[in-house]
Amino acid sequence: MNKPKMATEKGVPSNSRVVMLLGQLEKMDGEVMLRDVETARLVTAKILHLIQTQEKSGKEVMSKGSSGMEVILSSLENSRDVQTTLNIMYILSELLTVGRGRRVGVFVSKGGTGVLFQILISASKELPPSEELMLQLHSLLAKVGPKDRKFGVKARLSGALNVTVDVMKQNLQNAKVLLPCLQVLRVYSNNSVNAISLGKTGMVEVMFKIVGPYSKKNTSLFKVALDALGALLKSKTNARRAVDSGHVPVLLALYLDWHRNDTRHRCMLIRKGLLVCLRNITNLKVGRRAFLEADGMRILYHSSTECLPVRTLDPLINTSSLIMRKCFPKNRLPVPTINSAFHFQLPQVPPGGAGDQLYSQLSGVDDVDESDDNEETEGETDTDNEEDKDQCNLNDDIETDLNKLHPDRNIGRPFEELKVYQKFFSELSEDFQGYSFDFSKSASTTSSSTYLFSSSSARFSRPAEVPTAQTPSPKQIPDSQNVCTSVKEHQTLSSPSLTSSQTPLDLDTIHLSKNKDQQEGINIPTPDRCTAPPSFSRSLSQGHMIEQELSHPLEGVSLEDKGNQNAEAGSEKVKHEGSPVNNLRHVQPPLLLGGFPVRRTGGGGSNVGSDCGSEGTEDEGGDAPLLEVPDTAQLLPLHDPDLYVEMVKGTQSVPQYAEVAYPDYFGHVAPMLKEPLLDRIYGVQRSKIFQDIERLIHPNDILDKVVYDIDHASPMIEENSESLKFNSQFESGNLRKAIQVRKYEYDLVLNADINSNHYHQWFYFEVSGMRVGTAYRFNIINCEKSNSQFNYGMQPLMYSVQEAISGKPHWVRTGTDICYYKNHFARSSVATGGQKGKSYYTLTFSVNFIHKEDVCYFAYHYPYTYSTLKMHLSKLEDMRTPQIYLRQDVLCETLSGNTCPLLTITAMPESKSSDHICQFRNRPFIFLSARVHPGETNASWVMKGTLEFLMGTSALAVNLREAYNFKIVPMLNPDGVVNGNHRCSLSGEDLNRQWQNPDPELHPTIYHTKGLLQYLAYIQRAPLVFCDYHGHSRKKNVFMYGCSVKETVWQSNISATSSDLQEDLGYRTLPKILSQIAPAFSMASSSFVVERSKESTARVVVWREIGVKRSYTMESTLCGCDQGKYKGLQISTRELEEMGAQFCLAMLRLKRLTSLRNHQNLLDLESDIIGTQSKSVSSCTTTYVLEEDEPSFLEAIDYSAESNDEDPEPESDLCGDVQENFDQLSDSETRHRN
Ligand SMILES: [Zn+2]
Repeated sequence: MNKPKMATEKGVPSNSRVVMLLGQLEKMDGEVMLRDVETARLVTAKILHLIQTQEKSGKEVMSKGSSGMEVILSSLENSRDVQTTLNIMYILSELLTVGRGRRVGVFVSKGGTGVLFQILISASKELPPSEELMLQLHSLLAKVGPKDRKFGVKARLSGALNVTVDVMKQNLQNAKVLLPCLQVLRVYSNNSVNAISLGKTGMVEVMFKIVGPYSKKNTSLFKVALDALGALLKSKTNARRAVDSGHVPVLLALYLDWHRNDTRHRCMLIRKGLLVCLRNITNLKVGRRAFLEADGMRILYHSSTECLPVRTLDPLINTSSLIMRKCFPKNRLPVPTINSAFHFQLPQVPPGGAGDQLYSQLSGVDDVDESDDNEETEGETDTDNEEDKDQCNLNDDIETDLNKLHPDRNIGRPFEELKVYQKFFSELSEDFQGYSFDFSKSASTTSSSTYLFSSSSARFSRPAEVPTAQTPSPKQIPDSQNVCTSVKEHQTLSSPSLTSSQTPLDLDTIHLSKNKDQQEGINIPTPDRCTAPPSFSRSLSQGHMIEQELSHPLEGVSLEDKGNQNAEAGSEKVKHEGSPVNNLRHVQPPLLLGGFPVRRTGGGGSNVGSDCGSEGTEDEGGDAPLLEVPDTAQLLPLHDPDLYVEMVKGTQSVPQYAEVAYPDYFGHVAPMLKEPLLDRIYGVQRSKIFQDIERLIHPNDILDKVVYDIDHASPMIEENSESLKFNSQFESGNLRKAIQVRKYEYDLVLNADINSNHYHQWFYFEVSGMRVGTAYRFNIINCEKSNSQFNYGMQPLMYSVQEAISGKPHWVRTGTDICYYKNHFARSSVATGGQKGKSYYTLTFSVNFIHKEDVCYFAYHYPYTYSTLKMHLSKLEDMRTPQIYLRQDVLCETLSGNTCPLLTITAMPESKSSDHICQFRNRPFIFLSARVHPGETNASWVMKGTLEFLMGTSALAVNLREAYNFKIVPMLNPDGVVNGNHRCSLSGEDLNRQWQNPDPELHPTIYHTKGLLQYLAYIQRAPLVFCDYHGHSRKKNVFMYGCSVKETVWQSNISATSSDLQEDLGYRTLPKILSQIAPAFSMASSSFVVERSKESTARVVVWREIGVKRSYTMESTLCGCDQGKYKGLQISTRELEEMGAQFCLAMLRLKRLTSLRNHQNLLDLESDIIGTQSKSVSSCTTTYVLEEDEPSFLEAIDYSAESNDEDPEPESDLCGDVQENFDQLSDSETRHRN
């Protein structure tokens, strides 16, 4: 056997006694040790004595460079004498007790654990085994176990598990030996395979024998035993065993006993240990059942309530609440079906999509299923480290297929087909020969408020025709003509003024006073209505309806059948046949026209109430008092209440909304005050959860009164009722049901996206009938995301009509006691198409209303409706100067017949000289889009900022227009926005997952937006930048996702040749510029990795198929910033709009770089901007950015605290490599942030 040489390094005195003795020990090889037992005992005893008495001796042995540990381990291996072995173990025990972390690390790295196991095995063969030796061995193992990542595996492979089990079984009454064994067992059991194997040897039963009722003796033994038991019970097999043996009531009784007797809270950890055992057992369905049968809810509820006053007992309360939440019987949502309350008849069923499932679903699939612990089989796998698992999942999604990583400019459609898009690029053939460039003269006549979609104007090209789909009927619109003619035409158009001062009390008057062209303009490309899907079928024939709408646009606005107008007296609701909801409403002026004044003067009489189901006879707007309209038009250049109403009239909604929400009508002005992120108050979540649990404990306290319900004829709200009144039947509204659960507490259910059964997160609803001086608690009980910025400082938004009228028309961040957590409502996995995550989440917040008789609105984020967009686009026309080339086209119609606007903004050529025309035509394209996800309203506010900047008069805006040609689709999903969807279009699909193969019928806006890009690619004019604006619900700041082969390859660790990695850094330039100029923008949050799950998003498809290197998703937070100038503040529309403007400025900077002809210079410059001189891969890569990256709070956020039935037991430890990779990433990220 090779023995290590005892080194005498510098710094270790050569005359040191301990070093001398170690040297002596080193010389005794195996045989000598056997022969000269006495010497071995003597030498080791002397070393022990020195180490026990002189601190420096230990230091010398463990000093860097010393081989003392090797000598000791080698001697331990060779020793066959119990006394010598014991001496050495005492030495180790002394050594490892001091400076524990590092010394144990050295011990483990020198293979010490293995030596100990080896001695354990051989000692167990002695009969009887030396008790002292077993004691010492386990004490040492207990010391090193937690520091050795492979401890569990080594123990099992060496056979040590069974030795420990045997020793324990023989020493159940011998606490001295039992304690270290339990300590070791606790470490063994953290390995899931060990836990299963130990369970088979009867360890669970043994543990239950050890833990006992309250006693002041042996508390440390109990504590360790409970830890070990808790670890064993993580295994489902073991947990089931414990349930089957009736241990759940035992644990509860023990817990209660300790709770009652441990009055001075000295044994908190034992109590916690008992709870952990219960927590692990209740991961199983049978465990939860046993818990409920044993009255566990009541026991834990009452004991926790008693613990509340003592802060140090928080861990007990937290664990208890976690168990109670898990065991709270799962309920289905209080709605007849989780499918959307509204249905839209699609031209075809999306294959394999969510809609498909809906159509093929059997009844009853909404039922909650708890079939969760079927998988009893537990794999023989090892993971000593649980953390590895998460990191594996983290990297799962990175694209590793190199073929997919290389942009593949496959345009995919023949040019013959793409030619239809030519008309959207008329500027490329425009020669301006008929146009007068005398700007100074014409400037004064340019203002016009002609609505941009007016079909009577020649400037508007028709919606794209889809060659493959049903061809729209031919239009009476002339083909797109050259722009200068149209511009002139535009200038000479008489512009009927929409006076904003007009009080909108009488919609009819306003409307009828307008000229007819204007009205038709509102009913956008009218003949196309013929192709509108049959969802508009009513009692009247479609043709008749269309005719009516054309001739009486007003009726179209109230969205009523002609015949219903007689129902104006409000005597009865007309229920729409075949519809689950009463989506026909009284004919009456929109809510805002009649309702509010009544409410203000009459007090009780509320039009809102009538809409909720009272018979509403009091709201005839006949001689309603004057409505005080806040003068938002002055504050908001792009806002015009009258125009807004006009726009609403042309908006098609599936529920056929007839009302207008006040905030959209009045407009929103960003308040000047700063709105800091809300500090999370410790214990909020807990108290909310306890209130929820009280529903089960004290069911008689619960009112359960439905106060709003779109699925059924809405309930009567009696006058003088103390219940709040709810309403959400307006554009972008989506409240489905409101249930008063306590006097001042309401459960709210959101409607699913249309033709879908989930995706709820966005909300927008109206509340009235409130009292002042009381905190109302609102619980939105069917949120779906697993976490939310509501846990990290975000507040919902509220708009008070009283405040608006008094001159403060603001959406403001409101609400206290906000938290977001998993609740006891669930849906079956069948209902969600096998999707995981069956539980819903509650967003809860409390509000103190400050005005009596107010009408308030709540929203997830600043609303921005489709009608708002149309109003803004119309007002944008007013900003046009003769120098601006602005064209607004209708790209296509949506499924429900709304138009999808397409904007072209650039500068007019300076003159009609061929040079100027040439420059005009050759400007690079910038392609922008937004709002594919309806719930991400912030994207629209950013887009508004961009559009206003682009239409501005600043020198920068002028330069920008002269530099680029902007093609903008400001709202990719109008239908989703109109109908209050969170994520989808009317097909029940996420449109941003359809870019690879958009269907012309089901996804027209995507199909045609992609068509525009394909056309550009075909004519070799692919845009310089593509950017799709989004909102992010789980992160702070504004940031970008881009596409880089290099960074993806680097992240995924796949092997790639250097040619795969040739990529210039251009994709980083724009985000880098943004991070320098836009305070809300964070480069550190940006990522350039191509993910598999995103392969059908706009960003990836435009990058891969259209070949746009700078293809981005720009994500704006819904919450606020944690860096830069706005750090600590919630984001408002001001910052969002500023972001949109900053994006424009960044484009201007980008232009300065890209206008350089010399490509190499360009790269260098970009490198400068990027801030890296080195082009090496590592210097320019970001990490794969996590979905969320919030710091932990004092109060652990319980959002994911739930039975982890779905999680399989850990599968393998193949995460090792990934782990390493991840470490590197973190390093590089740190570097990058610097
Ligand atoms: Zn999005």
